Amino acid sequence: PSAKLLKNVLEGHTLHSVRGVSQSFNYEDIFKFYSDAPAPAATPLTDRDYERFISKRSALRQPGLTRQITQLSYQAGRDAVSLAEGMASSAVFPFTHLRLETSGGAEVTLEGEKLRAALQYVPTQGLPDLVSHLRQLTSDLHRPPPLPRDVLVTSGSQSGLYMAVDLLLEPGAPVLVQEHSYTGFYSVLKPYQPEVIGIPEDHHGVIPEILESVLEERLCKGQLMPKFFYLVPTGSNPTGTVLPEGRRRKIYELACRYDFLILEDDPYMFVNYTDQPVPSFLSLDSAGRVIRLDSLSKVLSPGLRAAWATAPPALLQRLQLHQEAHCLHSCTLAMAILLQLLQTWGRAGLATQLRGARALYRARRDALAAALRAHCAHLAHWHVPEGGMFFWVRLNVEDVRDMVFKTAFEKGLMLVPGQACNYDTSAPSPHLRLAFSKVKLEDMDTAARLLADVIRTEQAK
Ligand code: PMP
Repeated sequence: PSAKLLKNVLEGHTLHSVRGVSQSFNYEDIFKFYSDAPAPAATPLTDRDYERFISKRSALRQPGLTRQITQLSYQAGRDAVSLAEGMASSAVFPFTHLRLETSGGAEVTLEGEKLRAALQYVPTQGLPDLVSHLRQLTSDLHRPPPLPRDVLVTSGSQSGLYMAVDLLLEPGAPVLVQEHSYTGFYSVLKPYQPEVIGIPEDHHGVIPEILESVLEERLCKGQLMPKFFYLVPTGSNPTGTVLPEGRRRKIYELACRYDFLILEDDPYMFVNYTDQPVPSFLSLDSAGRVIRLDSLSKVLSPGLRAAWATAPPALLQRLQLHQEAHCLHSCTLAMAILLQLLQTWGRAGLATQLRGARALYRARRDALAAALRAHCAHLAHWHVPEGGMFFWVRLNVEDVRDMVFKTAFEKGLMLVPGQACNYDTSAPSPHLRLAFSKVKLEDMDTAARLLADVIRTEQAK
């Protein structure tokens, strides 16, 4: 293998896309995640610039030589004689055949060499054909400005979050988050003991003007500036907001002005009920400031851990080193199933799946909205979520904790207290997070009736 090959391996491929030039793909087949308006004018970061974002811990990571050889031997093809790799022999694999059928009649079959490959180690970045497929899908869906980028298949976006935080965050450093955010992100943050700067939201999400004044104040006071903003822009967990394009553009502009990156966690991108095309941060990323996490957990299957990160090469290579150290690579079998499913379905089949998932969640959201209106109108306050799986409900109480763990539990209703969505779980919260995604339509009324009963019991105490 040549030095050039090794260089390619280390530098990764690039995900190029030119706005408006995707020939093979009509966005209406799925949804639209880019804007027809031009991407923001911004100066792209250079490899040198990225150095200031990379944590000291992450900068110490180095590629393992044997993993590089695995990648090289993958590229060299199957004929090379290899005394290099300490891999299992496929002769010990007990499986000979795997067949899955979808409800729509599509088939995934793995057998022979395909199955053997699906049971073997692969390069850290992921099953190469899946990596190519996801590069193209990401490029088609988001049409990002033409900067080098690449993808890394991760075990769920949770794993992407974990690696991204390790990549960027120094212990005790400041980090920007939505005021109420994803509990799994806080779990990642905790050991770093960061200064969490929660930016308030209204029912359309983060308020950019507040973000700007927070940043300006820190700058004036000479405080350490945050290196990144963690955002769930569509169907935020727990608030259900969908950040409108104007706010996304303004936040992106602030990222360029105050020099931070955007960690865009978008597992609910296909679960947007507004029917408004909304560009992702990736699609606005003319400066290379976005690490984007995609996940098919909510619309396909969380058990497959089907997810990927997209980032500029200087950052993606570091994420890859983390993945290599942590788990070598995502589950090959799951990647092989996903690849064949996406190939068999084509874009039309994927679109059908995504439309079906969105319609199912939308019907459940509408049913819970109607049931809450019928039973809880004078007991609580909420906005109907524009995306995702949650109602964020405010009660007229100081703290919901007792109510959740005593009254509701005794009456057979499981709830999540607002604390779970705050970094500081010890502070009182008047909020509840209600997930409608798993509740059947016919049970929604009972759920809201029970909730009303719980609130009334609590109020009467
Ligand atoms: N981010 C957010 C905002 C989530 O709500 C979730 C799942 N609840 C995740 C990440 C994790 O998803 P995955 O299954 O892809 O790891």
